Amino acid sequence: MFDYLVVGAGFAGAVVAERMARAFGKKVLLVDRRNHIGGNAYDHYNEAGLLVHRYGPHIFHTNSEQVFQYLSQFTTWRCYEHRVLAYVDGKLVPIPINLDTVNLIYDLNLQTEEEVAEFFASRAEDRGHSRTSEDVVVSKVGRDLYEKLFRNYTRKQWGKDPSELDASVTARIPVRTNRDDRYFGDRYQAMPRHGYTRMFENMLDHPNIAFELGCDFRDIVDDVSFREIIYTGPVDEFFDFCYGELPYRSLRFEHETLDMEFLQPVAVINYPNDHAYTRVTEFKHLTGQGHRKTSVVYEYPGDEGDPYYPVPNAANAALYKRYAELASATEGVHFVGRLATYKYYNMDQVVAQALTLVKQLAAGYRARHSVSANGHSWSTQAVSA
Ligand code: FAD
Ligand code: UDP
Repeated sequence: MFDYLVVGAGFAGAVVAERMARAFGKKVLLVDRRNHIGGNAYDHYNEAGLLVHRYGPHIFHTNSEQVFQYLSQFTTWRCYEHRVLAYVDGKLVPIPINLDTVNLIYDLNLQTEEEVAEFFASRAEDRGHSRTSEDVVVSKVGRDLYEKLFRNYTRKQWGKDPSELDASVTARIPVRTNRDDRYFGDRYQAMPRHGYTRMFENMLDHPNIAFELGCDFRDIVDDVSFREIIYTGPVDEFFDFCYGELPYRSLRFEHETLDMEFLQPVAVINYPNDHAYTRVTEFKHLTGQGHRKTSVVYEYPGDEGDPYYPVPNAANAALYKRYAELASATEGVHFVGRLATYKYYNMDQVVAQALTLVKQLAAGYRARHSVSANGHSWSTQAVSA
């Protein structure tokens, strides 16, 4: 008898499994339909011996001391500040937009933050309260920089115009008036020294955690006993798409190993206006690995394939709300993670969300145990009824 059937061995599932087993002595069965742990953060050594991220570049960054300390129990870190260049008008320019981006694109020689702020102010359009991903950029830097750096990248990445997406999508990227060229401004920025998979192995190495990998939970759910489910897969799929499919954006990853030491000056180059791919990542910059060859990945966005990104806009939020109501009415199943709560969350946000669920589960145990010793039970019939 397991206390929890955890569906999905990504950050959401691994954190809940680890905490409930190690801190609360619960018995956990962790199931993933992929044949590995780590979810989308999975990394591995490829045939050339280079550490690569199978599902695209994963760079850890957070402002949360709690999240950083939690993960630090399972890994040491390699200091790494992420830098990205965008290929625009035949030049490589820093993204997020900063003083150097403006000087390079417009062949200017602005020197002070005030001059850059004035430049932006002279181009920015008043959009009132920024509602869409177009508004948020155009209201800060104006239409030309928006078109050079954001419009086409977004159309490629999402299959939608920025005007059809929530402001939160492009608002992930700051605009700077100084020369700071780091992609993230977070207090903690680092990579797990021996990779994400090793960190997950350390998290999940506990006698109370059993695994079923390469297995859809529906194939075993009727054959195992457990009290509750922790579900981290797509929420609409859990409910057999009863309200219709929630849109998720997918990616096709094309990995390549090259017989050269480095291909690019930085880990990631974005291609807003050229090529069918959005960006090219060279892993050695992220991992610090020394090797005479190098490995890169090209990301081709599309609608078909594994769900990677929830698509933030009003229509999808309304549809998700219906599923969320169903989810909260489903006894004995807890929904957590990027796909199960349809949130465009980074890894640290998923860890924080999972740690919050752990607190709730622990409080629930205390409450229930004072009333009755029984947990919830769950069956597929109960859900589809
Ligand atoms: P997932 O990692 O998706 O795990 C869910 C797991 O559930 C999957 O392994 C899936 O196989 C399994 N599953 C689903 N349904 C079933 C089922 N029916 N039965 C069994 N198993 C099932 N975040 C950052 O902080 N920094 C980054 O640089 C970054 N880069 C990213 C780049 C890309 C290309 C992508 C797609 C995401 C990136 N992220 C990044 C986000 C990060 O991947 C997520 O925040 C995090 O991995 C989500 O964890 P999760 O556990 O919620 O979901
Ligand atoms: N974006 C863009 N141009 C860029 C970088 C980002 O238009 O050069 C927009 C695009 O819509 C993208 C969003 O900003 O999807 C968020 O970018 P981020 O790098 O955070 O995306 P992720 O790493 O999650 O794919």
